[in-house]
Amino acid sequence: MDMQGILEEIVEDIGLLGRHGEVASYIPSLGEVSPDKFGICVAMADGSVFGAGDWLTPFSIQSISKIFSLALVMSYDYDSIWKRVFREPSGTPFNSMIQLEADLGIPRNPFINAGALVVTDRLLTLTGDAAASVRGLLRSESGNPEVDVDDVVAASEADHGHRNASMAHLLASYGNLENPVEDVLSNYFKQCALEMTCEDLAKASLFLARHGVSSGGTPFLSPNQSKRVNAVMLTCGTYDAAGEFAYRVGVPCKGGVGGGIVAIVPGRCSVTVWGPALGPNGNSMAGIAALDQFTAKTEWSIF
Ligand code: GLU
Repeated sequence: MDMQGILEEIVEDIGLLGRHGEVASYIPSLGEVSPDKFGICVAMADGSVFGAGDWLTPFSIQSISKIFSLALVMSYDYDSIWKRVFREPSGTPFNSMIQLEADLGIPRNPFINAGALVVTDRLLTLTGDAAASVRGLLRSESGNPEVDVDDVVAASEADHGHRNASMAHLLASYGNLENPVEDVLSNYFKQCALEMTCEDLAKASLFLARHGVSSGGTPFLSPNQSKRVNAVMLTCGTYDAAGEFAYRVGVPCKGGVGGGIVAIVPGRCSVTVWGPALGPNGNSMAGIAALDQFTAKTEWSIF
């Protein structure tokens, strides 16, 4: 298969489609990114890497960080996080609070904001510095020691993070936080503000395509845990558009409001796409179109 040729065709087609969607502006510093960027990178299970478009431009990974915080907590704690977070699709926006009260402080899944706050809280208890441990994992798995937090984005989100702060207080009121609200929020904003390229992210998430095996060849997650993270990505990784992603793309995906999406083809590869303009559900419009083409051209949908 001519993987480089496929990626170049996708970049060309995305350019022809024109721009759709809007850059996230509720975190003001994300609103400054050009909506016309588009990049794609594929990291194959054998270690080879292919990229096209703006695949080497760093962007804010935002909610994609939630895959790595969950994987870290599972690597330390095995299954105990599931006593504090469900693993069902929410059908509501990523920052919705309605369900959290109805479910008495147990978030629907670890990939909506409420669930991610609980995961970050647990990681903070386990490591003493949740954001630094996510950064450490991303540096070692991507092989890029320069991966770091964009402090301007983290501060911008903290200044405008009233919904996340409300959610953290609501979780605390139900006894579902182990650490002070301020500490959980600051770690969460920093992990979301990590900056990476498509290449970094495709390499860093490759363990999920390799049944949990890390870049160094040692097990980071067990095959069973890797299967479970992929399953939660498929059902909950793209907010209330998980059905649309399964229909159009057909592999586990996790998106972020920075416009990145990580997609895993178990046993084969990890793909990262980046296009900052988002659709109504908070997912990259160019990203879903590109992944739709990718699984069609490669015939690598799991369905
Ligand atoms: N930091 C963002 C927030 O909490 C992440 C949202 C996302 O990427 O979906 O609102």
